[in-house]
Amino acid sequence: MSRSSRSDLRIVDDQLWDAVHMEIEQRQRPQAKASRGRPNRKKHPLSELIHCSVCGSNYTISGTDYYRCADQKERGTCGNTVSVRREPLEHATVAVFRHSLFSPEHARAFAEEFALK
Ligand SMILES: [Zn+2]
Repeated sequence: MSRSSRSDLRIVDDQLWDAVHMEIEQRQRPQAKASRGRPNRKKHPLSELIHCSVCGSNYTISGTDYYRCADQKERGTCGNTVSVRREPLEHATVAVFRHSLFSPEHARAFAEEFALK
């Protein structure tokens, strides 16, 4: 994947960009390689992209409908017991991206950047 040279068009920082593309690459690998030695867990869009404000660990899916601190959930070493419902969080995230990506200002900049010559 190539990044735009226009830093003013960026809506995510480099760390998030790299994390998303690592996740995309991982999901494109054959399942046999990915599941060797560990159960084949379903990935969720925001797993490992949101972090606990107390300890910094990833917020991962808990059960089927909630994200919560992985450190608290798996090791009990973090005191943050706040869980967030999956669906509203994912919808809000999509809404933010949609709003950010489809403003007239960004559409104009996108058109200028990628105009056919
Ligand atoms: Zn935590």
